[in-house]
Amino acid sequence: MSRIFHLFARGVILLLLCAPVFGQAQSSRDASPRQKEVAVTIDDLPLNGPRIEIERLRATTGKLLDGIKRHRIPVVGFVNESLLYVPGETDARIALLKAWADAGVELGNHTFSHLGFKDASLAQYEDDFIRGESVTRMLMKEKRQRLRYFRHPFLQMGPTLELEKSFETFIAERGYRIAPVTVDTMDWMILAAYSKARAAGDTSMMKRVSDEYLKFAGEKFDFSEKVANELFGHPVKHILLLHANELNADNLDALVKVMTDRGYRFITLEEALKDPVYQYPERYVPTSDWLSLWSFSEGKKFTSPAPPEFIQKIYAEGQR
Ligand SMILES: [Zn+2]
Repeated sequence: MSRIFHLFARGVILLLLCAPVFGQAQSSRDASPRQKEVAVTIDDLPLNGPRIEIERLRATTGKLLDGIKRHRIPVVGFVNESLLYVPGETDARIALLKAWADAGVELGNHTFSHLGFKDASLAQYEDDFIRGESVTRMLMKEKRQRLRYFRHPFLQMGPTLELEKSFETFIAERGYRIAPVTVDTMDWMILAAYSKARAAGDTSMMKRVSDEYLKFAGEKFDFSEKVANELFGHPVKHILLLHANELNADNLDALVKVMTDRGYRFITLEEALKDPVYQYPERYVPTSDWLSLWSFSEGKKFTSPAPPEFIQKIYAEGQR
């Protein structure tokens, strides 16, 4: 008994002696556990997916913002200003965008028309970027804030590194930097099944889709953690991509639980971007999913999980 205690005590002393060494190692590469951190970003403000009537959009926005405030999540919301110009609803939609800012959400630029970089020339892409900030800039100015972040629509970065770097120089002169992603819950796809069930008044299917969504979100976190560990040997500061839609509005509490149950702490996008993972690796592929970018550069291949077949099918039908 006393021998076991002795060994135990020696172990504690050894650990204490090693502690400063561990502390140092944490700042570089190591596999020791550390606080899991994630920055939450929400795209396609004021509404992702098919158009819904303004009252319903108001309710959706309210649920999202109540959840964000209740859980004290620092959020950057990326705006497509073209979505403000719906005949008869422009004022109401601008008021909703203001509600995001009033809730403490920092607004970013996601181009005016949700333009894909591969479908545009650099000049067209830059024009759409400029056109995409007029209302948002005014709203941020009221909060004494400047626009700082840009998110590429469809997560499509410049077709070549040269084009991407030209664009990034262009936006840097305007005070912006790009906001990559490391966790994509594919809520934009799962929304199709959720909206279809809602339109049919099928509450049990809405519940089934929500359950699948939350399960899938967990799988995507597990996947991104695994990839980060294999690429870097330690966890990274993740950036989560979500969209401003009813699926998230109705499931925000449960989605937050998916993250907190895994030990995540919410950080600002500014804090997340300090992680060296957001510096360009040697080789380039045009994607804002930077774990893919790093995997490609390191010559490693990881197969990302996919949402259930029936959800993919409903999404594909909607695209036809
Ligand atoms: Zn988008």
